[in-house]
Amino acid sequence: MWVMRCEEVRARLDAYIDRELPETERAVLREHLAGCAECGPEAAALERLRDGIRGSVPVYQAPAALRRQIRLALRREAVASAPTAARAPGWLAYAASLLLAVAVGSGGTFMLLGERQEDRIASELIDSHLRSLLGTHLTDVASSDQHTVKPWFAGRSDLSPPVVDLRSDGFPLIGGRLDLIDGKPVPALVYKRREHVINVFVLPATKGGLDRALIRHGYNLRHWDEGDLGLWAVSDASTDELDEFVRAFRAATGS
Ligand SMILES: [Zn+2]
Repeated sequence: MWVMRCEEVRARLDAYIDRELPETERAVLREHLAGCAECGPEAAALERLRDGIRGSVPVYQAPAALRRQIRLALRREAVASAPTAARAPGWLAYAASLLLAVAVGSGGTFMLLGERQEDRIASELIDSHLRSLLGTHLTDVASSDQHTVKPWFAGRSDLSPPVVDLRSDGFPLIGGRLDLIDGKPVPALVYKRREHVINVFVLPATKGGLDRALIRHGYNLRHWDEGDLGLWAVSDASTDELDEFVRAFRAATGS
């Protein structure tokens, strides 16, 4: 009988989930996954990730519609508040509305360079935040223990997130999950503030490491770098609450 070691199984997981393996090999993997406490959950998480991507079309439509609404509202606001924009063609009003949003979100200081990229990431993170709220995929590892959550990411992501216990600050840890941002698996830590979910996404650090406070589509984002990592906190909690969260998080990590 053909028995596979965990490493051999892991090497074939993607192909298994994409149904690219011959049936004999599938059967061996299926057997292993059913009996292995390590590979089984790993496969389930990967499968959820894939289903999340496949099934994300209707979920994505909500943020897209929301985006359109906000864009329209901002455009009206820009037209109402800026006399030059009122005479300008639509795209210029739209550009003005974006600048308005950026100015509102970052206290008036912003760099135009890299703004598009930052905006794209911010949009992806908000979509991901929304998916985590709407779907059944808030956590892959549900635990309030940082010593359970942190090791869970080892081997699943190149990025090792700083997991801190903020219960005494009023932000209990709920767990963690793996998300896809920009086509790459990205660790997400999940904290709560009363009924609000705070997702902390862990990406590679951005050059410059600016501390940023953004509001996109009605959601608060905070971005800061810790060493090689770029952390993004996304929530529908209030600006003050998210600021308090980031202060507590950074105090705990010593950044
Ligand atoms: Zn195994």
